[in-house]
Amino acid sequence: MVEIIWCLPVCLLPRWSPDGVIQVLMVPRSSLFQKLEAWCQLSNGDWASGKILSTSGEESIVSLPEGKVLKFDTESLLPANPDILDGVDDLMQLSYLHEPSVLYNLQYRYLRNMIYTKAGPVLVAINPFKEVHLYGNDYIEAYKRKTMDKPHVYAIADTAIREMIRDEVNQSIIISGESGAGKTETAKIAMQYLAALGGGSGIEYEILQTNPILEAFGNAKTLRNDNSSRFGKLIEIHFSETGRIAGANIQTFLLEKSRVVQCAQCERSYHIFYQLCDGAPLSLREKLNLKSVDDYKYLKQSSCFTIAGVDDASKFHSVMEAMNVVHIKKDDQDAVFAILGAVLWLGNVSFTVIDNENHVEIVEDEAALTVAKLIGCDIGSLKLALSTRTMRVGSDTIVQQLTLSQATDTRDALAKSLYASLFEWLVEQINKSLEVGKLRTGRSISILDIYGFESFDKNSFEQFCINYANERLQQHFNRHLFKLEQEEYIQDGIDWAKVDFDDNQNCLNLFEKKPLGLLSLLDEESTFPNGTDLTFANKLKQHLNSNPCFRGERDKIFSVSHYAGEVVYDTSGFLEKNRDLLHIDLIQLLACCTCCLPPMFASKMLAQSAKTVGNIYRSSGVESQKLSVATKFKGQLFQLMQRLESTTPHFIRCIKPNNLQVPATYEQGLVLQQLRCCGVLEVVRISRSGYPTRMSHQKFARRYGFLLLENVASQDPLSVSVAILQQFNILPDMYQVGYNKLFFRTGQIGALEDTRNRT
Ligand code: ATP
Ligand code: MG
Repeated sequence: MVEIIWCLPVCLLPRWSPDGVIQVLMVPRSSLFQKLEAWCQLSNGDWASGKILSTSGEESIVSLPEGKVLKFDTESLLPANPDILDGVDDLMQLSYLHEPSVLYNLQYRYLRNMIYTKAGPVLVAINPFKEVHLYGNDYIEAYKRKTMDKPHVYAIADTAIREMIRDEVNQSIIISGESGAGKTETAKIAMQYLAALGGGSGIEYEILQTNPILEAFGNAKTLRNDNSSRFGKLIEIHFSETGRIAGANIQTFLLEKSRVVQCAQCERSYHIFYQLCDGAPLSLREKLNLKSVDDYKYLKQSSCFTIAGVDDASKFHSVMEAMNVVHIKKDDQDAVFAILGAVLWLGNVSFTVIDNENHVEIVEDEAALTVAKLIGCDIGSLKLALSTRTMRVGSDTIVQQLTLSQATDTRDALAKSLYASLFEWLVEQINKSLEVGKLRTGRSISILDIYGFESFDKNSFEQFCINYANERLQQHFNRHLFKLEQEEYIQDGIDWAKVDFDDNQNCLNLFEKKPLGLLSLLDEESTFPNGTDLTFANKLKQHLNSNPCFRGERDKIFSVSHYAGEVVYDTSGFLEKNRDLLHIDLIQLLACCTCCLPPMFASKMLAQSAKTVGNIYRSSGVESQKLSVATKFKGQLFQLMQRLESTTPHFIRCIKPNNLQVPATYEQGLVLQQLRCCGVLEVVRISRSGYPTRMSHQKFARRYGFLLLENVASQDPLSVSVAILQQFNILPDMYQVGYNKLFFRTGQIGALEDTRNRT
């Protein structure tokens, strides 16, 4: 396709017809200066715009920037938009809508620090990886007063507040995107706006101060993002009747706890560990017998201790301050730090082999003694819990000595469990502090910041759960922007030509079908005492090969065709991570501790086991009942979807412009792949031809009827509505009248609302 020729002028001039087809005109040589602009795809996949010099037969010769002249298949060329459309605010305004024009428009804006662009109803946000001057009080004020109408997170938050009040319906702001795309920053920007508009009671400050705490305990440096959230989060902000914030509630999803004991080269464990080691005051250091970061094995293994531009010590002080703001008592804070210290020291606990069967004893050194002191148990109990396991065989109880690898796993399981329980406990404390008071009206705006789709070289149980969650969210997005939208047009009998979209129901079935779906088979295999990751993988291959979204590969490998691409999973560790058992000996150890938190953690673990019916896992003869991680996660997701279904959604799609986390660098291929994943183009297509605003005849008549010059009190709602449309000169192309509702193209209701507000 691409062959360089040093071109000669010819006298065939191509022209785009309105439907984007190239026509070839015979023109005099002198008219050649009217050359046509087109997008051409280069051999590396990038798009470049150039001028078509000539078209002959199926080939066109195009002059590209920097003096290059190339030959392309005429059919592969796409029409360029006129210069006047460069950098439009909303992709809907593009005359020619296709991948290169969308990519170019976003790039044009991005390079001028206009990081937000509308794609119909969706806000696209491209991570600037630098400070952009688009935030703060002046901007908030401008969006509130509507003197600023450029696309912005503030504008989305503003619409959410207004629609919550106008329609008396709860709202949600759903933020998605890859790791490092800017979801968490975007969520904070939205919270800032809501806090500014609904502030006054002081609770808004508390809500904002939950961010440094949750980030310290739930975020970590990864290869993709220096501040990567390792949990999903939904924050529901409640408003009073007068539009003031009345309280909030935070729900978190699936914290990645394996990071506490294990992390990859150049990544870090959770920020709080480094912050504590760097920032703790002397008295706390002494109490915790705190050393520096490189003295702890859990932190040392990845050889990465600092993050460029981040001062962990000063962050520690911000976290302490934030804990005060959300009313975590001094004693409780001490207990939090004791648990953190204990987790760090647990990593240093070592074992000596005592016989030729590799059985071990724990070394009674500084590490073990400090752990016992910090959680408040005697050293003997700790030693026993980490090196032996009590088994019930029939009516007898026997004590089994652990091998080195069993003991190491037990130690790590205790560390992970302590940390995950601590995180859960913190969220509970925060929720108590933000509890909605008497002012509650039940109206709320929820902000969802959940991990985006992940596909790495090696994908494990964590990616499996994360990608499953993304399939569910994608379905929600599809339902709202494609399915429900179009179904509503058809049901209400308006003229409509259907637009197709990628439905991901097949993939969701692959996960959720009972009894032969990925999740059911995983749970089933997890309950078998002899089940292994390999037997699980084989079962998948045996039962799921007929699903077009599934492919069994060699050994423990299988792949799934997700909406965002194919992901290859390795089942190693799946069963253990799904069972997530903490041996009863350890739970009993925690129950007897004198530090105030471990007994609370223990009773919660016991209560969870007691409540659960079914899913009984037998681990080495000791029974403990517990919901599997995948089943619990699925339940949480269903609940989340139910909650979101009852809200009006506002979608923000964050885009990562490069993998280096640097400013002013826009990699076309990377952006394109993300735009494809989230169906941005299709959304724009639907919105452009669709009617995004709708209102029942009754509501429309009630809301705007009083603006009519004539008295229409006796007329039916449809007649009143038509009279309003006429009086305000809304053009027939701009609306359709359905059986029950009026449907409007974008922006049509604005004039009516303005008049209404002025009246
Ligand atoms: P993960 O899924 O890993 O949690 P994320 O999508 O939440 O990723 P963020 O942590 O929000 O990504 O953003 C990554 C980094 O990008 C931020 O730490 C910040 O440096 C930069 N960034 C994101 N959004 C903005 C913004 N609006 N202005 C300036 N910098 C930003
Ligand atoms: Mg994040």
